[in-house]
Amino acid sequence: MAQVRRRSAARVTAAGVAALVAVAALPGGSATATTATTRPAQHVIMFDFDGFDPRFLDGRYAGLAAMPNLRALVADGVHGVAEGSYSSYSNSSRATTATGAYPATHRNTGYYLNQETDRTVSQERYIEPGVETIAQSLRRQGRTAAYLQWYVVQNHGATYGDPEALYVQPGGNCESRADQAVKLLRGEPVDSGGTLVDPARIPDLITVYCDDVDGVLHEGGFSAPELPATLARLDAQIGRVREAARAAGILDRTTFLVTADHGVREWTVPLLPEVVRRLNGTGLTVQVLPSSGATPDPTSEIVVVAAPRTADITLRGRADTPENARRIARIVEGIPGIAAVRDAGDLRRLKASDKLGDLVVEPVEPYHLSTLTDGAPRGSHGALAEAEVPMVLSGAGIRRGVPLRNVGLVDVAPTISALLGVRPPSTAQGRVMRGALERS
Ligand SMILES: [Zn+2]
Repeated sequence: MAQVRRRSAARVTAAGVAALVAVAALPGGSATATTATTRPAQHVIMFDFDGFDPRFLDGRYAGLAAMPNLRALVADGVHGVAEGSYSSYSNSSRATTATGAYPATHRNTGYYLNQETDRTVSQERYIEPGVETIAQSLRRQGRTAAYLQWYVVQNHGATYGDPEALYVQPGGNCESRADQAVKLLRGEPVDSGGTLVDPARIPDLITVYCDDVDGVLHEGGFSAPELPATLARLDAQIGRVREAARAAGILDRTTFLVTADHGVREWTVPLLPEVVRRLNGTGLTVQVLPSSGATPDPTSEIVVVAAPRTADITLRGRADTPENARRIARIVEGIPGIAAVRDAGDLRRLKASDKLGDLVVEPVEPYHLSTLTDGAPRGSHGALAEAEVPMVLSGAGIRRGVPLRNVGLVDVAPTISALLGVRPPSTAQGRVMRGALERS
């Protein structure tokens, strides 16, 4: 803990600043001067709130908490509902945010049967080799960043102790994550995996990940008594970090981006028993598996990975034919309470990961496909309905008061890159949110 690492580059001294100014003033300009004028923001601070349903800002749940700090960003900037990615599990969705690519490309997948290991997987840290994260892209292009509990880039561009692409995992709740952002803005060192790291100057990008709301919603849905206070606590962290940016003198050069990985739907009524009953009617051997670390029996022909908002179905042996996939989809679609059965064509159109099964079944609220049968009110995600997130941009380089349309999580990394004056991650498929940016 005693060791303090510093950036290898020396601090910019007063003489150094004078030299840069002199170079920039030369006729014909210079690379330095050009970069400075085409960079809308010196800093981007992103809050990524797990499970922060867009309806907390607009619609059904907008009255749960006032959230004055988030609303101030909205009033000063642009906001809208953005597309998430499919399926809407946290790690897969966040990998979309981090790479600017769809799950079909980054292949981080949730709640499925891994055919290579023959084991079920709830969530994973996988990103397809060769697919670049924003952490790798910014580092490659000389921009600095600190990722506060934003685990998706850990060892995918960000590492403990690296002052240029710093990973910090303070644990605790949103407040302890924001504490680290405040420290960085004050120029204080932060604990990165047991090493005190002093980034020497405020990172160009700071991402703050908080999962407080997701946890509350999983446990008790939208009527959970602690939900309003949790939303208020998240909002307060935006205020604290913004205040620290003001105190650091960088507020007018900083863009704030607030988003989430997915929304949430509620569930109480079990539908899995009926799905299994109908599947048994096919005469094929059906097996329901828990979503983590389970291996199917060699004789199982229809393997179901059960989760509240999705049931992933893999067909094996003699069951693994296009005719059976069509037949089973028709049977399951006919069950009251089923919203959709996504087949191979649907999954391709959704740009979903090819590691998902042959079919993915989704229920409508309040039905669910988990093995629980106690009827307790809970919230969850994974289906298409909750592949929607709020998108708020505000501050340096951002327009005011225009609605933000046709944007998605794939556009986050390209947009942050444009704000910081660099190219997007090399494999990004999303686009810069031009509608959000001031025309220079
Ligand atoms: Zn969740």
